[in-house]
Amino acid sequence: MTSAKPVFNFCSGPAMLPIEVMQQARAELLDFQGTGISVMEMSHRSDIFISILDSAEQNLRKLMSIPDNYRVLFMQGGASLQFSAVPLNLMSAYRRAGYINTGYWSQRAMAEAQRYGAIVELASAQCSNFKTAFAAGEVDIPRQLDYVHYTPNETIDGVAFTEIPDVGDVPLVADMSSCILSASIDVSRFGLLYAGAQKNIGPAGLAVVIVREDLIRPDLPNTPRLLNYHIVSEQVSMANTPPTYAIYLANLVFQWLLRKGGVAQIEQHNIEKAALLYGALDRSKLFYNDVRAQYRSKMNVPFFLREETLTPVFLEEATRFGLLNLQGHRSSGGCRASIYNAMPKAGVMRLIEFLEIFENRYV
Ligand code: PMP
Repeated sequence: MTSAKPVFNFCSGPAMLPIEVMQQARAELLDFQGTGISVMEMSHRSDIFISILDSAEQNLRKLMSIPDNYRVLFMQGGASLQFSAVPLNLMSAYRRAGYINTGYWSQRAMAEAQRYGAIVELASAQCSNFKTAFAAGEVDIPRQLDYVHYTPNETIDGVAFTEIPDVGDVPLVADMSSCILSASIDVSRFGLLYAGAQKNIGPAGLAVVIVREDLIRPDLPNTPRLLNYHIVSEQVSMANTPPTYAIYLANLVFQWLLRKGGVAQIEQHNIEKAALLYGALDRSKLFYNDVRAQYRSKMNVPFFLREETLTPVFLEEATRFGLLNLQGHRSSGGCRASIYNAMPKAGVMRLIEFLEIFENRYV
């Protein structure tokens, strides 16, 4: 809930932010800590902004227990620009990378990487119509790959890996846009992680990249400066003017998460919220989710109505009930509830209440 009207926003991204974060941002909007100006109006080279950037990095390191041999980069262009940045930095020795295809976003990543080298599709969930992911040892990894890329949480179809793929010595790259900070992970299992901010971190535009130092190469004359991890890292995320206000808000979200007890605590909330919602869908005679149970996402819960003609009626009535942005992605239709970290349990309970009201009325 972010306004006086009791609404819950289930948008997949830009997603709702924690109410406490919004209130703090409002309180500090015009006068940041007695400076008389907004963070939005400050030089990115000022001591105050540099301390915000540093604090954001340190807080993220703490939340994710990021080892010292990883760099944290704040970049622009969302997750999609990382679809290019990853091959432009990491395709080196073999100019060949492996991609695991679990749906829309892994395909977008793969399509972009194809511009820069050879792409091997290591596994595809297409035969299940993208209703499944893969177990750790299920994907064979050929030799001579610069990296393996996968999407731990497919935002549109609501499919999530339960285990990190076993890729041996090959650097593993993960697009964590819709699951970063939602559950504890062992960063040392990855070569590189990236995420667009607008789901679990902050406002759109910002992307966070966490990359192991030995994968950062200084000799990339053809990689654009702003996509070059070496340059961005050497310039401490200030190769040009960074998205200062987005970084400030991200830091407020990181501080909020730390106050909540960190990622392990929020993970328990996420498990509980998702179990409640899937439970309600599985009990329903009208609504259903068709993702293979073990791979159901705890962040994005797509659902459909057995009586399809009722879908627009449901969406309209849900909006009037204060449940916003429940429409599914344009590519798959139906409905989808995104229940990221900031969604309180009360929002999920309200949705379940409405599912029952609607079903009783129409079935
Ligand atoms: N990857 C995933 C998993 C996503 O969910 C999204 C956005 N929904 C993107 C990439 C693209 O992000 P952006 O719009 O920030 O480029």
